This record gives sequence, structure tokens and C-alpha cells, in this order.
Amino acid sequence: MTPSPPLADGALVLFSGGQDSAVCLAWALDRYARVETVGFDYGQRHIVEMQARQRVRAGVLARFPHWADRLGEDHVLDLRGFGAVAESALTADREIEMTARGLPSTFVPGRNLVFLVYAAALADRRGLTALVGGMCETDYSGYPDCRRDTLDAMEISLNLGMEGAFRIETPLMRLTKAETWRLGAALGGESLVGLIVEESHTCYRGERGERHPWGYGCGHCPACELRAAGWDGWVADGRPATAP
Ligand code: ZN
Repeated sequence: MTPSPPLADGALVLFSGGQDSAVCLAWALDRYARVETVGFDYGQRHIVEMQARQRVRAGVLARFPHWADRLGEDHVLDLRGFGAVAESALTADREIEMTARGLPSTFVPGRNLVFLVYAAALADRRGLTALVGGMCETDYSGYPDCRRDTLDAMEISLNLGMEGAFRIETPLMRLTKAETWRLGAALGGESLVGLIVEESHTCYRGERGERHPWGYGCGHCPACELRAAGWDGWVADGRPATAP
């Protein structure tokens, strides 16, 4: 992409260490002069997510000098109290299944809303105005707190309640998973695709044993299936089938 002058205000990226948030981080670094990251410890079963965050950040610093100048602090906020209230398959030892509401048991009620309240409070203290998240309503998940309508309402609430000027930016909202891979390639080329494949983590089961063309994971959970299908769609669209 043609470099353009960065926006003067700063962005806080909700950064889990997964594929989507890694692309969001690149998107923000492409646009903003100052970018910080925030992660949430809500009692995840998988410490592997927290480790992936650090590896992706380190990879960005090593591979993209022009972004490294813009990438500032990382923050991890302790939300284990919330995790205890909203216990689900992600935080408790329970199988992934569909619930009576038609939502997967991986759905943590209100999780993204809580994340955004904490992110906005942090952003206010850090002087950042853009809150960047990988929420997406195109693919399977259908989580109600990932819908753009929900986030529009949340943005109004945050700005009213904190006398702020926040913008909730969701660059992946209308993209398929194949288009998310394409956006990553457009932003950072093969180097970014390779970093995402090798170091980002999506698998709900926290497995990193097997290396697939799209990265590591069990290959069978909903998150792995979605990531694999996106990769396959991108390859079918003409991306060379060899892994970077
Ligand atoms: Zn998996």
C-alpha cells in the first residue's frame, strides 16, 4: 500500500494475539502515529493466548521498522473477576456446544462490552481516541456484542459517560475470513502473513502441536475451522498455495 501520513491521534488496539487482532494491529500501525495494545486476562484456560500476544508484538518490532517507531506500550488488564461471573467454555473446562439461545458455549455474555469500557478508561488515561477491535459480523460467530449496531450504541454510551471523543473502529466488520488474510497481505506482505501463520493463536482448545498451512491449532474446533476455511478461500482466490 502507498504510505500515507499517519493520523496524529493515537489508537488502542484490543489485542488478543489471534489472527484478527494481529491484522487489526497492522491496520492501526498503518494509520496512526501512536499505537498501544491492550489484552485482557479473564481467566483464559490457555496461557498460550497471552504468549502469542508477546510473540506477535515482538515480530512486528523485528520485521517492520517503520511500524516499530509507532508501536508503544502493551497493557494487560486483570478481568478475572468478570471471567468468574461469566464462566463459559473458554474459561471453564467444558465442551464447546450450541446453547438454547443458538449461541456457541464459547459466548461470554457481555464480554466485548466489558472490554470496551476498560479499553476506553485506559485510552482516556493514555490520551488515545481510537479503539480498534477485530469484531466481525460476517462469519459464523454471530456474537451479539460483535455487531456494528451494538458497537455504535456502545460508542455513544462511552462518549456520553466519559465525556470522551472515542471512535470504535472495526476494520474487519464486513470482511470474510478470506478477506482478512488478504487485508493482512496488503498491509504487510508475506512477512506479515508469515508472522500471523507462525505466531498468532486462534484455537479454542489452546493446541499448538500441529502446523497447518494456516498455522497451529487442533484443526477441529470452530475457531480452527473458521481460520482454515478462510485460508483455503484465500488460496482458491489466487494466492500461491505454498506457505510463506
Ligand atoms: Zn482448534
